[in-house]
Amino acid sequence: MARAPLVDGHGRRIGDLRVSVTDRCNFRCQYCMPAEGLPWLERDDVLSFEEIARLVRLFAELGVEAVRLTGGEPLVRRDFPALAAMLAAVPGLADLSLTTNGYLLERDAEALVAAGISRFNVSIDSLQRDRFFRMTRRDALPRVLAGLEALARFPEAHPIKVNAVALRGFTEDEVLPFARFAREHPYEVRFIEFMPLDADHAWTPEDVLTGEEVRAAIHAVYPLEPEPREPSATARVHRFADGKGRIGFINPVSEPFCDDCNRVRLTADGKLRTCLFSLGETDLRAPLRAGASDDDVETVIRDAVWRKELKHRVNDPGFVQPARSMSAIGG
Ligand code: SF4
Repeated sequence: MARAPLVDGHGRRIGDLRVSVTDRCNFRCQYCMPAEGLPWLERDDVLSFEEIARLVRLFAELGVEAVRLTGGEPLVRRDFPALAAMLAAVPGLADLSLTTNGYLLERDAEALVAAGISRFNVSIDSLQRDRFFRMTRRDALPRVLAGLEALARFPEAHPIKVNAVALRGFTEDEVLPFARFAREHPYEVRFIEFMPLDADHAWTPEDVLTGEEVRAAIHAVYPLEPEPREPSATARVHRFADGKGRIGFINPVSEPFCDDCNRVRLTADGKLRTCLFSLGETDLRAPLRAGASDDDVETVIRDAVWRKELKHRVNDPGFVQPARSMSAIGG
């Protein structure tokens, strides 16, 4: 059943839902969580597959066409491909995508593609084994690269994107290796500016290696040409002037893209976040479990989205970092 489109108080139509299916992760990335991990959600607090599917169906009826599945690390959730298949069958969804750290990709690639996931983002912050280990606290680079190769064998999985978080004092030595990686492999590499969503709340603006700095470093060696930006896109994509691939820059700190933001997020415990940096959340799990009708849940969603933030305030004096960290929001 089609419902009126979901529009926020600034006239932006919501078309993209990010769904965190778990807060758990098998990596311990320095810029995300402490070595010992975080207190995980209790199993009963996490939305069931049926609850996720019901909410995704409702959002699709409200005009959402794209759903991205995230975590923590989504592939650690048991039977995840079965959930993906349930969501791929939701009427009205044009695009089902996944963000993963790639550690379990070699095991799951075939099942994920068969389930109907059409786009893949694999997070890799270094192409050097020791540095990868230093960043993720896991000696896993060979396995992640093997997972990427396994996925690349499926034509329907392309274009595959490789996301690298850009950190000052770490990523500078990775920039040209990643540029060569994008030129020599069928992957689109994107650098993402480090955002204040770390569990340790240690982020400072000085830690941000800006997209422009990375772009300039690459352009000096491998000339780049910008491509037109898609509406509501997060990445500014460039192609190599000699035609050997593409590279993207996601610059939420230095070049915010909030004006035409069309995204909202659902956390693993059923909270609706209208912005990545929201300081408040709306509980959708409670009405679901209290037997609310779809119309009732729709009203709750509409009210929350109407109050969606115009933009983030990361660069504003007095910026307050959300209590919930990236691992519990899911990119
Ligand atoms: S920071 Fe918030 S408003 Fe800006 S693009 Fe991200 S989710 Fe949208």
